[in-house]
Amino acid sequence: MAASMGDLFCFCADPAGPARARVEVRFISSLKGKGLFATRNIHKGETIFVEKPVVSSQFLWNALYRYKACDHCLRALETAEENAQRLLGKSCRILPHPEQCSIRKDLHQHCPLCQVAYCSAECRQSAFEQYHQVLCLGPSREDPKHPLNKLQDAWRNIHYPPETSSIMLLARMVATVKQAKDKDWWIKLFSQFCSKTANEEEEIVHKLLGDKFKGQLELLRRLFTEALYEEHLSRWFTPEGFRSLFALVGTNGQGIGTSSLSQWVHACDALELPPHEREQLDAFIDQLYKDIEKETGEFLNCEGSGLYVLQSCCNHSCIPNAETSFPDNNFLLHLVALEEIKPGEEICISYLDCCQRERSRHSRHKILREHYLFTCSCPKCLAQADDANLTSEEEEELEGEGETDDAELEDEMTDV
Ligand SMILES: [Zn+2]
Ligand SMILES: [Zn+2]
Ligand SMILES: [Zn+2]
Repeated sequence: MAASMGDLFCFCADPAGPARARVEVRFISSLKGKGLFATRNIHKGETIFVEKPVVSSQFLWNALYRYKACDHCLRALETAEENAQRLLGKSCRILPHPEQCSIRKDLHQHCPLCQVAYCSAECRQSAFEQYHQVLCLGPSREDPKHPLNKLQDAWRNIHYPPETSSIMLLARMVATVKQAKDKDWWIKLFSQFCSKTANEEEEIVHKLLGDKFKGQLELLRRLFTEALYEEHLSRWFTPEGFRSLFALVGTNGQGIGTSSLSQWVHACDALELPPHEREQLDAFIDQLYKDIEKETGEFLNCEGSGLYVLQSCCNHSCIPNAETSFPDNNFLLHLVALEEIKPGEEICISYLDCCQRERSRHSRHKILREHYLFTCSCPKCLAQADDANLTSEEEEELEGEGETDDAELEDEMTDV
């Protein structure tokens, strides 16, 4: 792996300095693969690095349901008020403090050929230079017979919300190589993402595409080939190569969420206001979220996923010392320290959400095994190794799932 890690750091957009000052990627073992380690003291709350994905893409249902986002960086394009009105299904709600909305419509741009929207001239230019010349549909944007539209349509029919991935992420990888002068540099870059064995790949594809995954995968491969075949990447278009590509995105894809409304809320939270006004504003925001939840449920954000070189080296822990977030309202991933981290210490994030993290070791292992194909041996899991059976039985009764207890098998696999 990592022929030249130096090359990869140029994807870091950290204004405070290069990420290499704080972290390094190290090979841990053939079982655990790579890991990210601190090279100096990192303080609680400190931004460890800010990273741009090598490719990213909005989810297709999310885009179809008019969650308007920059086609390149996923920045939400609606004003906070438009965003709230759409999520509420009514256009009468007016937001106070409109000056706290960060959306700059005057900067928005479109591709002159296909009309996809961008948040800025920079994003339009970056997309055009990296992949959009290959993927631009021109006047065929609405044509259902265009190979790229057929591919997207097939994907939507296989992968319903809640979405975890998009076939267009794979398309952008191919398009990037097609457009690149130095094709081998990009191929090497993509090959540095964590790869899996054939059996594990099957499991991941099964997870992504459901029970009929073999037929679905073959259908997608045919449409993918029709739309994007590239001599240089012929391996990616073979059944095995396509499955690997799929598994790569399934394993390494990081979810991205952006929202004009939540940016506005954060800005409002930071306002210095007299107590009475503060109370009023907080009450307004609470009510707004309640109303939105009633109307739209949990789908609040523009959503997509991306491939991040550094972040993808971050292993999981059930007691993570860092977390990822998207505070810039675009695809820039911030890795922030949750506690003091000493030089030489591994930096870990959690692949589980906070509710899942509170569950028993047995339940956590079950989720991690199913979704990420590994058995966690973090300090918390090691400390709980003895009481696992007791807690899991109690929890299973609560869940009422009546599943078979595979705790014994898991215990055997825990020795990492
Ligand atoms: Zn953008
Ligand atoms: Zn275009
Ligand atoms: Zn753990």
